Amino acid sequence: MDKDLKALLQSHQLKITSHRLVILDYLMTHETHPTAEKIHEDLPDISLATVYNTLEKLVESGLIIVINVNGTRRYDYYGEPHYHVINKTTGEIFNVDNFDFRPLINAAREASDLRITGFKVEVFGESKIKED
Ligand SMILES: [Zn+2]
Repeated sequence: MDKDLKALLQSHQLKITSHRLVILDYLMTHETHPTAEKIHEDLPDISLATVYNTLEKLVESGLIIVINVNGTRRYDYYGEPHYHVINKTTGEIFNVDNFDFRPLINAAREASDLRITGFKVEVFGESKIKED
């Protein structure tokens, strides 16, 4: 497995385990914002309980994030900052990066004098009813 993934785990103070490497790799290569159940379905060698535990560890470390949609927990590797537009009708989550967040980050830094380390934005919408 990739050296970079190992370095990534270590840079987030996580011990390297095969489950962490496999699940992190899965999330980096699937931009589908899967549930734990979907990950277990695609990686059946890893028990659902282990998938849950591994995801929680990765969330705690800040390497991945949780997005709550219609009562389900969805997971996302958050290496490149982006924001999410969530269709509440279908549960679909879109990665979007067509907006410049620098003014927001600068304003937050000025207001707090903190070193800003991250942000998370979720925009919700519903499918339009087609009239034709
Ligand atoms: Zn995303």
